[in-house]
Amino acid sequence: MKILLATSNKHKVLEIKELLKEFEVYAFDEILKPFEIEEYGTSFKQNALIKARAVFDALNERQKNEFFVLSDDSGICVDILGGKPGIYSARFSGKGDDKSNRDELVKQMKEKGYKESKAHYMAAIAMVAFAGEFSVHGSMHGRVIDEERGENGFGYDSLFIPKGFDKTLAELSNDEKNQISHRFKALQNAKFILKNIKKVYNEK
Ligand code: IMP
Repeated sequence: MKILLATSNKHKVLEIKELLKEFEVYAFDEILKPFEIEEYGTSFKQNALIKARAVFDALNERQKNEFFVLSDDSGICVDILGGKPGIYSARFSGKGDDKSNRDELVKQMKEKGYKESKAHYMAAIAMVAFAGEFSVHGSMHGRVIDEERGENGFGYDSLFIPKGFDKTLAELSNDEKNQISHRFKALQNAKFILKNIKKVYNEK
């Protein structure tokens, strides 16, 4: 059983490959020609399923028997912004890059008169295969601050301090982030499903 990631975000691909080491994992663009997928859902789970279904549908019959498609839809929810940017995290500023999204978050927080706020990251993982459709979640709680710290990670990592830490995610190593992250927790739940289904594939 092979896993095909329905994402070409190179940061997510690296994190997921590291966290699913015991599986044979391929990035989307290693198997298929990249194509746009419109994320029209109203929740992380819906968007994750939309992406996984679109990639599964694009496989040929042989590939459909071989691959388990796995997608991640994730983002950050900031309390004093009423949960924004949430599912719109990747397109918060409207410009489509991480730096302008971070600037927009700090701007909106300052407009409300805050220098920091409780926040959490959320990840929904969807898995689509002939065996069926599955979805799981993981979250990481902490706070966002109004100035960037650190160089690691991506997205909003330089603004986010996980609960129990005094460093931003961008000041932690990849290994440290991978032990506490929303994606790690969601993938732990996903692994439970994948391991059981792998047994069935191996018995075929
Ligand atoms: P998606 O690719 O539509 O799921 O959008 C995910 C967006 O949420 C990314 O572009 C980041 O802005 C943000 N995000 C999700 N996970 C992380 C993370 O682990 N660190 C930093 N930002 C993240």
